[in-house]
Amino acid sequence: MKPIDEELSWDLTRLSENGLYRELRRVDSAQTPHIQIHGEPFLNFSSNDYLGLANDPLLKVAAMKAVEKYGAGAGASRLISGSLAPHHELDETIAAFKGVEAALSFSTGYAAALGTICALLDKRDVIVIDRLVHASIVDAARLCGAKLRVFGHNDMNDLEDILGWADRRRTEFLSSVCPSSSGPGVQVIRRRPRVLIVTESLFSMDGDFAPLCDLIALKEKFGAWLMVDEAHATGLYGAHRRGVAEGLGVASQVEIQMGTLGKALGASGGFIAGSRTLIDYLVNSARTFIFSTAPAPAAAAAATAGIHLIQSQEGEIRRERLFDLIAQLKSGWAGFEPKPSELPSPILPLLIGDETEAVQAAGALRAQGIFIPAIRYPTVARGKARLRLTLTAAHTPSGVARLLVALNNLKLLPEHGKTD
Ligand SMILES: *Cc1c(COP(=O)(O)O)cnc(C)c1O
Repeated sequence: MKPIDEELSWDLTRLSENGLYRELRRVDSAQTPHIQIHGEPFLNFSSNDYLGLANDPLLKVAAMKAVEKYGAGAGASRLISGSLAPHHELDETIAAFKGVEAALSFSTGYAAALGTICALLDKRDVIVIDRLVHASIVDAARLCGAKLRVFGHNDMNDLEDILGWADRRRTEFLSSVCPSSSGPGVQVIRRRPRVLIVTESLFSMDGDFAPLCDLIALKEKFGAWLMVDEAHATGLYGAHRRGVAEGLGVASQVEIQMGTLGKALGASGGFIAGSRTLIDYLVNSARTFIFSTAPAPAAAAAATAGIHLIQSQEGEIRRERLFDLIAQLKSGWAGFEPKPSELPSPILPLLIGDETEAVQAAGALRAQGIFIPAIRYPTVARGKARLRLTLTAAHTPSGVARLLVALNNLKLLPEHGKTD
């Protein structure tokens, strides 16, 4: 063994010992409720394809037409020669769907978070994030160089304290900027330090919702900006299925709306939606956008078709079907905590706690033909391993009934549905 492999395999052994070793499973079928893994059929309750669009003929045809007309690859970044018609159509379609001035698509949601946060903030600024936000936001917060503060999950008192601190810091900074501090002939342009709050609307691993109205009240009080990642909510909530912010009537107060194209929208990519100025700024400064080849035309065209489908009557039908399945599942399994005031969530975590036990529970479900992977550290905190169960509009009532039988055979205690 080469020294590098010796050292790395030692690390991998430690992961295995702690129940944290990860392996890829090859799926030999499309992303639907019925998948084939190593030739064996499973009912799949792990996908983020919430409206069943990933394998929809409308999206597939759009992708194929884009391949025929624009080829397999974009050939360059958007700012060089890769800004093809399907990318422009996608950006315009996202903006119209979200009801905003402008939007910009990225090759992934991860790239959207990283590019945007790093473009907006630097070491003069403060970024305040919920403890449970997605890794893409955590990574961006670290990389951007701003002071990073984390508030307890959905804890508005904690957030208020942090915003108070950030506000005092900003006031001190501004009062320290006095004209005589710059030498003769030196023009110092110092902008106001920025404070950005970032949260998700529907949390990816817990399936609960952020109190967006309270967040908005706080960010207005302290003059902060708000970025809301609707990765899991886009397509599911609000009259036009734009997301939770629309459902609560507060979308126009969110400075930066983020989403992905690879979950309910059925394709791949990420986006930022907001003002024309914000989008122009990102085109000029988001490094993951500038220094990365434009997405394949097929991906952009499929995403555009997915958004059109979601905006149509078919989108409403699928959302209702999904919500009916969620209600069926919740009423048949005592392990979930129905929180009556909350919107229906397609993400239903079964908290196990111990990593190895979670892997065993996932194995016991696979033995019954049900695929739900164990989610472990570092995706969730240590000791908070869980089965992350998701429903999609492509499931059927009989599939959910099968899932219920399997869950009841697992004999998880009712406490296992609680995540706190
Ligand atoms: C999936 C996800 C992302 C990243 O989106 P990709 O398009 O998969 O890169 C960002 N934020 C949240 C909350 C997500 O769940």
